[in-house]
Amino acid sequence: MSIPGTEGQPLRVAIVGSGPGGFYAAEALLESGLQVEVDLIERLPVPFGLVRFGVAPDHAKLKSVTAVFTQIAEDPRLRFFGNVELGRDVSVRQLGAFYHAVIVATGAAGDRRLGIAGEHLPGVHAAGDFVGWYNGRPECADIQFDLDQEVAVVIGQGNVAIDVCRILASPIDALRRTDIAAHALDALSRSRLRHIHLVGRRGPAQAKCTPKELRELGTLPGWRVQVDAADLALNAVSEAELTQPANAQAARNVDILRGFAARPGDGERCLHLHFLRAPVALHGDGRVSGVELAVQALSGEAGAQQAGPTGESAWIDAGLVLRAVGYRGSPLPGLPFDAARGTLPHREGRITDTSGQPLPGWYASGWIKRGPSGVIGTNRADSADTVASLLADVAALDAPRAGRAGLHALLAERRARVVDFGGWRAIEKAEMERGRTFDKTAEKFVRIDDMLAAAAAA
Ligand code: NAP
Repeated sequence: MSIPGTEGQPLRVAIVGSGPGGFYAAEALLESGLQVEVDLIERLPVPFGLVRFGVAPDHAKLKSVTAVFTQIAEDPRLRFFGNVELGRDVSVRQLGAFYHAVIVATGAAGDRRLGIAGEHLPGVHAAGDFVGWYNGRPECADIQFDLDQEVAVVIGQGNVAIDVCRILASPIDALRRTDIAAHALDALSRSRLRHIHLVGRRGPAQAKCTPKELRELGTLPGWRVQVDAADLALNAVSEAELTQPANAQAARNVDILRGFAARPGDGERCLHLHFLRAPVALHGDGRVSGVELAVQALSGEAGAQQAGPTGESAWIDAGLVLRAVGYRGSPLPGLPFDAARGTLPHREGRITDTSGQPLPGWYASGWIKRGPSGVIGTNRADSADTVASLLADVAALDAPRAGRAGLHALLAERRARVVDFGGWRAIEKAEMERGRTFDKTAEKFVRIDDMLAAAAAA
C-alpha cells in the first residue's frame, strides 16, 4: 500500500477547531509539499475561534490575522465545515476512520476557578464569560452583568484581566464603532461603575500582563490609576529578577506602574491596582458584596519566588467580581483528557492514551495542547511542531481513507446544516452591512439560527 501524500492518495487530514491553532496547522499542512486534503471542522457556523470571540473589540489590529486565515481557507485543497460538532454530528471513532490523521485544536474556552467559598454567588463571573459576552459569543449572549454596581473587583493580572478592566472603563465612544456586540455596548453605556480593583496575588515584578496592555490602563479618559507606593517597593530578589534579559517585559511593567504612582491622573473614577493580595473568600447575602483577601509576601530565589500569606488580611467591598485566573480546555467525548491541566495529554503533539502511548493518527495543536499561554502568533510554531510530528508518522498512516467524501456522506445522512467558507463569507458580509447602519465595523450575529439564516441566504 502506498504512503499517503501523493496525487493518487492525498494525505487526508481533519482539523477540529478553526481558531489560530487550527488555521496554523492547516497552513503547515498546505505548505508541507505533500498532496493534502485538509478539512477544517468548526462547531459554530463562524470561524476564527479566539480571534473572533477572545480578542477585545478595541484591539482591531490583532484581529487582522483573519485576513491570513481567510487566505488559508480559500486554498482549493482546504474545505471549511462550519456548524459541525465533534461528538454531536460526528464521533471520534467516525472521524478517525475517515481521515489518515485528525488534529484537535479546540482551544481553551472554559475557565479556571478560584476554589474558594462564595464563588457561586450571583455577581461573581468568569472573565471569559464577560469577554464572550462583549464579543458576541452565542453561549454568553444572555448573561447579565450587573453594571449598576459602583465597585467591581477583577481577580488576576494577566492580559485577560487587563482587557476586562479596559472594556469596563472605556469611554463608550471608543467602543461604539468597533464590532462589540450591541447588547454589551448598550449595557456598558449605562454602567455606573466608579471603582475597579485589579487584584494580583504576586508582586508588580511578577504580573503576567504585557507592557503595551498595562500602559493602556493609564490612557482611559475619566479614570485615574491608583497604585500604592508601598506595593512598588520591591524586595531585593525581585529587583535582581528585573535585571535579567528574560524579564525585560516585567521591568517595563514596573516602570509603567511607577509612572502611574507618580502621575495617577485626575479622573473622577478610579482604577486601583493591588499586588500581593490573594482572594480567600467571596462574601455576600444572596449576592456578592465583598472580597476577603490575604496579604501575601514573596520568598525564595530569583525566578522561583513564591507568594505566601503574612497572616494579615484585607477586604474590598464590591458588587461585581470577575475572576480572570486563566482559561482551560474541555474534554472531548472519546478522547483522553488531562483534567489537572485542562489539556489533551500528548507527546510532541501526538495525543497519548492513559498509558502514555500515542493514539495513532490523533494530534493536538494550540491551547488544547499546551494550555492557554502566549499570543496568537505563538500558535504558529506550536502547530508547525505538531504537523512535523504528523509528517514524521506518515509512513504509518497508510490505510486508504474516504476523507472528505466520507464526512460529506455522513453529514448529508444526518441532514446537518453545514456552513462552508462561502456561507461564512455571506455571514461576514451581512454582519458588515448590519454594522454600517450603526457606523460600526460589524454587527455580529449572536444567535446561531441568525448565522445559519445569513449563510443560507447566500
Ligand atoms: P494568564 O496570563 O495566565 O494570567 C492569569 C492570572 O491569574 C495571573 O495573574 C495569575 O497569577 C492569576 N491567578 C491564577 N490563579 C489564581 C488564583 N487562584 N488566585 C489569584 N490569582 C490567580 O491568563 P489570561 O490572562 O487568561 O491570558 C491567557 C493568555 O492569553 C495569555 O497568554 C495572555 O497573554 C493571552 N492574551 C493576550 C492578549 C493580548 O495580547 N492583548 C489579550 C488577552 C489574553 P500568577 O501569575 O500568580 O499565576
